Amino acid sequence: MQLDNTVFILAPIYFWSIRSKSCDNICNLNIEPNQISSVSLQLFINNQWQDAVSKRSFPTINPATGEVICQVAEADKADVDKAVKAAREAFRFGSPWRRMDASDRGLLLSRLADAIERDTAYLAVSDADSWVQVFTVCVCMCVHRYCAGWADKWEGKTIPIDGDFFCYTRHEPIGVCGQIIPWNFPLLMQAWKLGPALATGNTVVMKVAEQTPLTALYVASLIKEVGFPPGVVNILPGMGPSAGSAIASHMDVDKVAFTGSTEVGHLIQQASGSSNLKKVTLELGGKSPNIIMSDANMAEAVEQSHFALFFNQGQCCCAGSRTYVQDTIYDEFMERSVERAKSRVVGDPFNMKTEQGPQDQFKKILGYISSGKREGAKLMCGGGVAADRGYFIQPTIFGDVQDGMTIAREEIFGPVMQILKFKTLEEVVERANDTKYGLAAAVFTKDIDKAHYISSGIRAGTVWINCYNVFGAQAPFGGYKYSGNGRELGEYGLDNYTEVKTVTIKVPQKNS
Ligand code: NAD
Ligand code: MN
Repeated sequence: MQLDNTVFILAPIYFWSIRSKSCDNICNLNIEPNQISSVSLQLFINNQWQDAVSKRSFPTINPATGEVICQVAEADKADVDKAVKAAREAFRFGSPWRRMDASDRGLLLSRLADAIERDTAYLAVSDADSWVQVFTVCVCMCVHRYCAGWADKWEGKTIPIDGDFFCYTRHEPIGVCGQIIPWNFPLLMQAWKLGPALATGNTVVMKVAEQTPLTALYVASLIKEVGFPPGVVNILPGMGPSAGSAIASHMDVDKVAFTGSTEVGHLIQQASGSSNLKKVTLELGGKSPNIIMSDANMAEAVEQSHFALFFNQGQCCCAGSRTYVQDTIYDEFMERSVERAKSRVVGDPFNMKTEQGPQDQFKKILGYISSGKREGAKLMCGGGVAADRGYFIQPTIFGDVQDGMTIAREEIFGPVMQILKFKTLEEVVERANDTKYGLAAAVFTKDIDKAHYISSGIRAGTVWINCYNVFGAQAPFGGYKYSGNGRELGEYGLDNYTEVKTVTIKVPQKNS
C-alpha cells in the first residue's frame, strides 16, 4: 500500500511478530514485512498527515518492556478545531459524502473491512498488546461489515397522521460526531464508534487513547486508501484534558460518543451541558456480578468465570469482577478457581502459550490488592508482581469478600477476582444490584426459572446466561445507571447516530 507520508520505521518487535508462527497459525497470514514497514505517526486530518499545530509529540510505550516504541504527534485544541472544520466541510449539504448513495457508503465500509482483513497481522501487533488482538481484528472487521449492510437499509416510516397530509420520517445523520476512545481494545473501540457513525452518514473527529495510537493511525491510512472523501474521518492522538475536552466542549460538534471511566463520563456530559448541548452517549465502567448457582455445571462455571474476569488482563469494562457463588458449592468453586488462576500463563504477549500479558494500570491495581488485604479479604492466590521487568501482575483471587469492601465496589481493571458467598436467589439479586454500575451480569445455572428470575431482576444492559463476554455486531451493548447511556452496535446503536426528521406534505383532495 501507498502511504503518502511514511515517517517512522517501526521497532523490530513488529517484524518479529509479523513473521512469528503464532500469527500464522491464527490467521494464515501472508503479508510481506516490507509491505507494512512504516506508518505515519502524524495527525490524520482531511485525509492528510499533519504535524500538530504546536509541533508537539508524545511517546508510545511497550507495556511488556516499559520501552518507548516511537513518538506520535500530539493533538490539542488547535488541531481539534482544524479537524472539526474539515468534518463540517465534509458534512456540508451537497458535499460528496452527503451526495453519496447510501449503498456506496456501505461499499466503502465493506472495503475498509477488507483492507483490515488483509492487514490483520500488522494490526494485531501494533500497540504491542498481544496476539489476543488478532481476535479483535476479526471482530472489528465483522462490525464494519455489519454496519456496511445497514447503510442502505436505514429507513424511515410513512405515518398516517390526521387530516389531508402525507407524513414521513427521514433517518438523517446527526452531523459532526466527536468520538473519544480508550486503550483496552483499541481497534474494537474504534470500529464500534466508526462503523455506526459512517453507515448512517455522519462525519467523525476521533481522539484515540494516548496509550494506543498506532492501530488507529494505521486504520486511518486504510480509510484514505479505500476512498472515503477528505474530512469524513479525522483521527487525532492526544491527551484527554486537552484534545479530548476540546472535542467535548466544542461548539460545532453535534454529538460526542465516549468510552472510558465514569469519572471522565461526568466531565463529557458537563461539557455538553455548558457548551452546545451536543448529544452524548457514554459507555463507562462496571462492576459486573457473575452469579454461580449450586446447580451449575461446575467445570464450565469455573472456566467461564475465570475468563469473565481475567480476559484481556482484566482490562474489560464488563469484567465479571464480583463472582457470587452459592454457599453449598463455594468451597469447591474456590478451590478449582484458585487452581485455574495458578495455572494461568503470564508473560510475553507474543508467545502463543501466554494467557496474560502486561497491565496498563500497574500501580493502581497493586493499590487495590493492598486495599483488599487491609480490609480483610482473604488472599487465595497471587497478589504480587509477576516479572522483574515490564508491568506484569500475578493472577489474583480474593475470597471472603464482603459487599462493602473497596475491591467489591470499585472497578479494578486488572487480574484481581473477587469471590463472594450467597445463600438465596432473592438475596443475590439484591446484592448484585447494590452497585452504582449496571453494565453487564451473568448467571450460571441449569434451571431456566432461576435464569429468567435473575436476568429480569438485574439492572444491567447485558445479561449472559451460562456464558460470558459473548458479543455480536448485531446485539446492542451499553449500560444502566453509572455505566453510561445509549447503546452501541445493533440497530439500537445506529439509532444513536441518527436524527429523525418528520416531513409533512399537504395533499389537496380536489383538483384545482
Ligand atoms: P479515561 O476515562 O481517563 O480515558 C478514556 C479516554 O478519555 C482516553 O482517550 C482519554 O484520553 C480521554 N480523556 C481523559 N480525560 C478526558 C477529559 N477530561 N476530557 C475528554 N476526554 C478525556 O480512562 P483511563 O484513564 O484510560 O482509565 C481509567 C479507568 O477507566 C480504568 O481503570 C477503568 O476503570 C476505566 N476504563 C473503562 C473503559 C471501558 O471500556 N468502559 C475503558 C478504559 C478505562
Ligand atoms: Mn484517565
